[in-house]
Amino acid sequence: MPRTTIARVDLDALRHNYTLACQRAGTARAMAVVKADGYGHGIREVARALADLAPKYAVACLEEALAIRDAGLNQPVVLLQGVHQAGDLAECQALTLEPVLHSDTQLAWLTESRHRPRFWLKVNTGMNRLGFRPGELDGVMARLADAGVLPGLLGFVTHLACADDPDSPMTARQTDTFVRATAPWPRLARSLGNSAAHFLPDQPLFDWSRPGIMLYGGSPLIDATGPALGLKPVMTLEAPLLNTRVVRAGESVGYGAGWVASQDGRMGMVAIGYGDGYPRHAGTDTPAAIGGRRIRLIGRVSMDMLAVDLTGVPEARPGDRVELWGPTVGVDEVAACAGTIAYELMTGLTARVPRQYL
Ligand code: PLP
Repeated sequence: MPRTTIARVDLDALRHNYTLACQRAGTARAMAVVKADGYGHGIREVARALADLAPKYAVACLEEALAIRDAGLNQPVVLLQGVHQAGDLAECQALTLEPVLHSDTQLAWLTESRHRPRFWLKVNTGMNRLGFRPGELDGVMARLADAGVLPGLLGFVTHLACADDPDSPMTARQTDTFVRATAPWPRLARSLGNSAAHFLPDQPLFDWSRPGIMLYGGSPLIDATGPALGLKPVMTLEAPLLNTRVVRAGESVGYGAGWVASQDGRMGMVAIGYGDGYPRHAGTDTPAAIGGRRIRLIGRVSMDMLAVDLTGVPEARPGDRVELWGPTVGVDEVAACAGTIAYELMTGLTARVPRQYL
């Protein structure tokens, strides 16, 4: 029998969310961002579920693109980190992978290679992680032309630093910088927007958008929940109740003995912990749910277990299923209680938790 601590993955919800991304993208097309094992949902299954909808996928690195090919899918795959070594260009060409080249080193690998993959150029408009500054683009284009590789260039990619905050002036500044930097090459494609950009008023997305977190139902905006944006939760993380027990006033629960019952009550232990990727920093009062009713964590999260307050749920029995996040308790809520973001919770779920696909 498989373990009953499981992550159920609703692939119809995923398709719903991708369709919403396409609607919000307007005339832009949406490349489905499935890096980090499909944000923890399983890259092969996620990519397959979107196969008839998504014209392109985006991943961080070559190994992830190979997983998509392994799943029998042939759409182009954008490599957001470019290539990590010159030899990877051969696979890019052979497998229709599109690296986003971002450094002089990567350009040298391409111009000196006999392989001719199609590729993108990363423009640094203010994120300051990767990419060429706008003032460097003329020189880069001349270099590509001299080497005879310019025909392989598909377009320009940039990435927004503060799109999750609709009030940030940074997004408009980056958009403007991107427009001006790429204006001399109007025939080339442009890609700027992550999930958040799909929800910002009047935000241009140009030719290709790159939705990630929204596909999985997570909110890309700091001040909104996924459902409020029309997104459906894709993952439901569930674990069984191991026991139920009385806790007396004055008794502590768990490591550190930091949580102490102020009155007599009922509690239960749930078979999930930080060894499964549930955040250890989710403290007392982090929500969970049982039978659709919200309950709260008490004490510290252990490696394989956590404690919940069942005082208000007298009917709860060992074996009952506890929802850690999903339709009743948003993953964004749990993330906020743990001082992190839904991205980290989803991608941090360990291999010990079987994924079950609906
Ligand atoms: N584009 C790039 C370059 C990224 O690094 C990411 C994610 O980190 C995305 C798009 C997708 O972002 P999000 O998950 O916020 O939609």
